[in-house]
Amino acid sequence: MNLASDDALILAVSDYSETSQIVTLFTAHNGKLRALAKGSKRPKSPFGGPIDRLQLVQAVFSVRAPGGLGLLTELAQRETFPGLRANLRNFYAASYAAELAIAATPDLDPQPEIFKILADTLRRLSSTTESDILLFRFEVRLLGLLGLRPPLDQCVACHRLREPARGGFFSPPVGGLLCRQCAQLQPDAAGRQPVAFKVAGKALDALLFLAAAGDDELGRVRLAVATAADMRRLLAAHWQYVLDRPLRAAHWVS
Ligand SMILES: [Zn+2]
Repeated sequence: MNLASDDALILAVSDYSETSQIVTLFTAHNGKLRALAKGSKRPKSPFGGPIDRLQLVQAVFSVRAPGGLGLLTELAQRETFPGLRANLRNFYAASYAAELAIAATPDLDPQPEIFKILADTLRRLSSTTESDILLFRFEVRLLGLLGLRPPLDQCVACHRLREPARGGFFSPPVGGLLCRQCAQLQPDAAGRQPVAFKVAGKALDALLFLAAAGDDELGRVRLAVATAADMRRLLAAHWQYVLDRPLRAAHWVS
């Protein structure tokens, strides 16, 4: 059996049997994979007790073909992000980030940058009161790394630049933002108007800012409730469209 050793975030855990669990790992260098943890729920578990999700570990595992089930043979705790268990809002944000990472990445596709921003996000969520800002930032950075970030600084139809603070009309099927004229004038191939909804300029500006913001710039961000709601609506619609399915944890962060 070929074994790999890697840093890994445990993103999901499910029961396999009365004594064993299946863990979904997002590893630093081997991408995402699922592995069977034999006997993990036994009193004398080789993993030190039942395995909990949302922690950073050093894992040793066998690698199976995409979609297959590997075998987890060793696990050493590195970071448990205790603050996530002490604050429901942060726990929900972390759960949503984990579900997004699972849904948006294929198995065994090494994504060290995504591993890095995900670990960083869970670490920060463990000690913050600004879970909204951290989660929005994770989402726009994840979209960027996946090549799926919609342009928010210009109209995707006429390419006219959007002035800062000016709102627009977001259309998931069109893949981005439409100016007022194009939102009214651009029928699709069947002659239908595009499905688009209005997004305030502040929300678009904030998403653009967070996509490029350094760690030391996050403290400058203040989001009004209405702005955060607009940002959430835009991202939820975009994820739903690109993933082609709803996310279970979406209602926790809406
Ligand atoms: Zn336009």
